[in-house]
Amino acid sequence: MGSRTYRAEAIVLKTLDLGEADRILTLLTRHFGKVKVIAKGIRRPTSRLAGYAEPLSHATYQLARGRELDVLTGAESRSTFRAVREDLDRIAAAWYVAEVADRSTAERSPAAPVFDLVETALRHLEAGHAPALVCRWWDLHLLDRTGFRPELGVCARCGEALREATNAWSPYDGGAICTNCVDSSVAGLPALSVRALKSLRYLLASDFAAASRLRIDETLERELERHLRAFLHHVLDREIASARLIDELARLPRRTPASV
Ligand SMILES: [Zn+2]
Repeated sequence: MGSRTYRAEAIVLKTLDLGEADRILTLLTRHFGKVKVIAKGIRRPTSRLAGYAEPLSHATYQLARGRELDVLTGAESRSTFRAVREDLDRIAAAWYVAEVADRSTAERSPAAPVFDLVETALRHLEAGHAPALVCRWWDLHLLDRTGFRPELGVCARCGEALREATNAWSPYDGGAICTNCVDSSVAGLPALSVRALKSLRYLLASDFAAASRLRIDETLERELERHLRAFLHHVLDREIASARLIDELARLPRRTPASV
């Protein structure tokens, strides 16, 4: 019966409680893409697998093929992301990453590059990097690896090279558009500042180690967030619910002591 069970390294993207004690886990596996599995009895106090069945759990799961859903039968932890779980800003960013990953992948369709990105993003959140920087790096590389890389070199509408001026951002056209095209467009498009364009190019061309050297003030951070969220909203054709939590946290008074 060996072929009935298999092992899969995975990160839990979301969970759905079912009946009295069961839970359905949406796993993003390294090798088999996104897989929904059932964890039977996981909500009983005696369950020895409960710690592996939470959102953001990262483990090697042992699974048995089932008629409809595969069944969780065992797990070995890979990382706990303890620091992420203890900090609201970081956990909101991690939920955002998980939600976008869920929306960007299809079940049972290989998604190793997306798995790598999720794992990288969570690891850097755990290491204490700024959640906003991790999220923007994630947005760009996720779009790139799923075939939706924003156009940042030439105008996405007319193909002319972008001048070093305030251009515009048009998710509908697929990226930055030039001043000529802005002038001729009917609807007002959000402005794309020179430094935002340069930052987007830099983040897209960089691994996280290089990206983390980028200095971003709050104004630029907000602009990058607006543009990339609008782009993802267009590509995914829906709002990202966890982005609202990030916004609410941003409105809270800062917890660092203020200068008097
Ligand atoms: Zn143009």
